[in-house]
Amino acid sequence: MNLVLLGPPGAGKGTQANLICEKYKLSHLSTGDLLRMEIANKSEIGVKAKQIIDEGKLVSNDIIISIIKSFFNNNKNSSGYLLDGFPRNTEQAKLLDKLMLELEDKISCVIQLDVEEKHLKERILSRGKEEGRSDDNEKTLLKRLETYFNETMPLIKYYEEANLLKKVIGVGEIMHINQSINSIIDHL
Ligand code: ATP
Ligand code: MG
Repeated sequence: MNLVLLGPPGAGKGTQANLICEKYKLSHLSTGDLLRMEIANKSEIGVKAKQIIDEGKLVSNDIIISIIKSFFNNNKNSSGYLLDGFPRNTEQAKLLDKLMLELEDKISCVIQLDVEEKHLKERILSRGKEEGRSDDNEKTLLKRLETYFNETMPLIKYYEEANLLKKVIGVGEIMHINQSINSIIDHL
């Protein structure tokens, strides 16, 4: 089983991803987490990515490809994957389709976590205080939202047309949202 989590910054993708991966024994691919690891290690990719992330833009597809490749190489015998933060634009979605063909596998479902903008700002700013992520500030958030609307939102239609999209309201108790997601997965 391979799942994709789709949603704006602050939608709760990471939180739900951890719960889903634990329950269904999936390997968690978070491109955001992997990029932050590159930044912490001050690698070549990390140095390039830091500036772009702090501007609220998407890092280049070349960087994403190299990160994705090493993730799949390191998680070869996995029973399934949960993709969090990838794909984020149409080119990446097409890349994922190609990758699934190569693995002789398919996307089982794309779960869209739907959260209104007013909640996102609150969540991101409080996370900024707690975790100190340099892109969790008001100015970068505005740009991240714009990037989401322009580049990532088209994927909703892309996956709707592929009959893969399931929408979940991402507001309320974490465990309640998690139950809605679990019931979708259990019916796949
Ligand atoms: P949240 O952590 O709340 O889910 P988010 O989705 O904006 O918010 P991450 O997924 O951690 O945060 O991504 C942080 C940043 O890393 C993005 O704003 C972007 O610059 C970069 N990034 C992450 N994944 C990708 C990707 N697939 N393609 C391009 N850039 C990416
Ligand atoms: Mg995240």
